[in-house]
Amino acid sequence: MKLAQLTAYLESLAPLAYQEEYDNSGLIVGHPDAEVHQALISLDCTEAVVDEAIATGCQVIVSHHPIVFKGLKKFNGKTYVERVVEKAIRHNIAIYAIHTNLDNIMTGVNARICETLGLQNSRILAPKHQLLKKLVTYVPVAQAEEVRSALFAAGAGNIGNYSEVSFNAEGFGTFKGNEHTNPFVGEPGKRHREHEIRIESIYPANLESKIIMALVLAHPYEEVAYDLYALTNQHQQVGSGMIGELENPKNADSFLAFVKEKMNASVIRHTAFTGKPIKKVAVCGGSGGFLLKQAIAAGADIFITADYKYHEFFDTEGKIVIADVGHFESEQFTQQLLYEIIQNKFVNFAVRLTKVNTNPVKYYI
Ligand SMILES: [Zn+2]
Repeated sequence: MKLAQLTAYLESLAPLAYQEEYDNSGLIVGHPDAEVHQALISLDCTEAVVDEAIATGCQVIVSHHPIVFKGLKKFNGKTYVERVVEKAIRHNIAIYAIHTNLDNIMTGVNARICETLGLQNSRILAPKHQLLKKLVTYVPVAQAEEVRSALFAAGAGNIGNYSEVSFNAEGFGTFKGNEHTNPFVGEPGKRHREHEIRIESIYPANLESKIIMALVLAHPYEEVAYDLYALTNQHQQVGSGMIGELENPKNADSFLAFVKEKMNASVIRHTAFTGKPIKKVAVCGGSGGFLLKQAIAAGADIFITADYKYHEFFDTEGKIVIADVGHFESEQFTQQLLYEIIQNKFVNFAVRLTKVNTNPVKYYI
């Protein structure tokens, strides 16, 4: 299939608009119209992973971390980033990254950690703002249902577990077309009064052009009147970190033993126990230290993440336990997640998990 089919599907689940500002998710190397038959999944796209793609006949590497974060100014093989990009281009191998956009969805990296730890009622810890908008349009009564359905089909009207959400009010609209018009109802040059429905529906901002196109196609008028509103609502299903509850509270000691085993961690660096049993658990794959305040505010007893620095461990103020399980360890389920996402959708497309352990951190125990 075309590479674009694969990337379009991944981006329908984890839109690029959901990535953090510093990120560089998306197609980093390769052409969207390239033919691909087999993908290699990895957490990091190292030289060894590109070699593996060459050896196993993969045309695309889907990795969690983008190999390129900042602008590359030279390609003389001096850094591993330059060498990876150069080798991939030379061997016609595409590199695609699905990073913080995969972290930030309800079925992404953090959801896998929650599942692994058996957490219940998992939800986003820090939902994002500025991702939702509202469309208001005015449609003749007889065509309202068709327009409503077209908007829903294009992705409008989803709130939590509810779909096809809209508000509808009846009223009348007026218009007068000039001599160049051919109005659906009424006559040019005469003010027309039409019984209309005002349809309002919420939608994800990244689907705006698709939704407007669906509106214009379904709406009977020559000129479609519509308003787009920016909303300051949180998007409950998109954001950083997750929080959930253990079915049965555990004491901190036995919970850490459980986490160590489940996360295949050689070691867990943690702060002093608070003395409270562990019931609410916040998680964030990778460097999640920026979420500590939200984890405390949400009432988490422990925050499982990675990349904690010495001074940041002081920030608990005795209110929560920080447990640093290691960056690679916290994200290790992401490879399997990507494998399943791609394989379940494209059953005839070959997907392979890297055999390279790309974790740059070694533990001397
Ligand atoms: Zn990471």
